[in-house]
Amino acid sequence: MRVAIIGGGASGLFAGGLLAKANIDTCIFDGNEKLGKKLYITGKGRCNLTNDCSVESYLENVVNGKKFMQSAINKFNCQDTMKYFEALGCPLKVERGGRVFPVSDKSSDVIKALAKSASSCDIHLNEKVKTIIKQDNTFKIITDLNSYTFDKVIVASGGKSYQATGSKGDGYNFAKSFSLNVVPPRSALCPIKLKDDFCKELQGLSLKNVKLCAKTESKSYEFFGEMLFTGDGISGPIALSLSSFLNEERSVELHIDFKPALSREQLDERLKRDISSNLNKEASFLIKSLLPKSLAELFLQICQIDKHKKLNSLTVKERQNIVSNLKHFSLSFNGLYPVESGIITAGGVDLKEINPKTMEAKKVPNLYFIGEVLDIDCLTGGYNLQTAFSTAYACVNAIINEN
Ligand SMILES: Cc1cc2nc3c(=O)[nH]c(=O)nc-3n(C[C@H](O)[C@H](O)[C@H](O)COP(=O)(O)OP(=O)(O)OC[C@H]3O[C@@H](n4cnc5c(N)ncnc54)[C@H](O)[C@@H]3O)c2cc1C
Repeated sequence: MRVAIIGGGASGLFAGGLLAKANIDTCIFDGNEKLGKKLYITGKGRCNLTNDCSVESYLENVVNGKKFMQSAINKFNCQDTMKYFEALGCPLKVERGGRVFPVSDKSSDVIKALAKSASSCDIHLNEKVKTIIKQDNTFKIITDLNSYTFDKVIVASGGKSYQATGSKGDGYNFAKSFSLNVVPPRSALCPIKLKDDFCKELQGLSLKNVKLCAKTESKSYEFFGEMLFTGDGISGPIALSLSSFLNEERSVELHIDFKPALSREQLDERLKRDISSNLNKEASFLIKSLLPKSLAELFLQICQIDKHKKLNSLTVKERQNIVSNLKHFSLSFNGLYPVESGIITAGGVDLKEINPKTMEAKKVPNLYFIGEVLDIDCLTGGYNLQTAFSTAYACVNAIINEN
């Protein structure tokens, strides 16, 4: 039996390693000059390869594809991933929130481990697959250099974000060429654009321990943690996570709660105390004790309070206005960044077309889809790479058992 894997990224290399271990004749094609180009930039170059969490907790972090992933994650869970990499000679460590990284903090060590596991595969770099054609019981693969025949084909070509890494959405065209439905690709884990002019002024400002809240026509979302203002919107962990739930929304009410640990009443009491002990100080002094300095002036403008106003002349209404804006600082949603700039791509090969136990296309025996090319997307924390590994494992397990 000869197996082709299209894509030498996270899922393709992982599948290649498992097939090599089972002595199955495997060929990996990648259009890039080297393997794992996207893996290299994961986790800011440190590669957060999984999360040391339970199956339930993994599933809570799957935004689309929860039900589909149940079988694959139960067969190969996060701890299995950790054992697998440790056994490949890549020691790991667990950080805040269960995030797992190589001890070396180098994503290149994860790539090396995967490449080593797949080293007995026939690896074709700089060779882009153009077409897959079904011929009776085999597949003809046509690349930009040659054509080949295989018994089974695994499409591991990724999504269509960060296209410089080689993932340009080719997998969707392969699926469509077999009449498989593809859910239109959408941005996920990407910055959120805002209409507010003040974004320019706040560019680079990072906020910690705040709550970012969104209300759509049907649902409300809240994320607590760190975010960042960009020139025309917001980014950072909680903004990226929120974006995954907004990708089809047009009308969204957005606000920041700068003081999520305090109720309005508690915050008002605190302000009253701060004001009465600093009566001769200016309004800007009060705000600078509550918010980052670079935000203070703008905040007072939004509250329509003169920054030089003495605290002894601040009215009750003005104080309450400060409380309201600290708890509910409105932002004007202006959509998401395009799919290319998302950390991952939502949408992809329709899960209805795929057997969740084997990753095989129901209509096309011996054709498999694994990793981000599928209509699955997860939050940050190592869950997307875990999805790549678990889907690859389910696929290879099915191939080996059939062999
Ligand atoms: C900046 C960034 C940071 C990230 N950090 C994390 C993180 O820390 N943790 C986490 O869990 N996830 C992270 N992700 C997401 C994660 O990298 C992806 O979900 C994962 O790489 C998907 O694996 P894959 O194998 O499906 O696709 P990819 O890793 O994208 O691999 C696909 C491969 O297929 C090749 N290919 C495509 N088309 C063809 C073709 N026609 N012919 C031949 N080869 C082809 C490409 O060149 C590519 O090498 C991050 C993503 C980005 C962009």
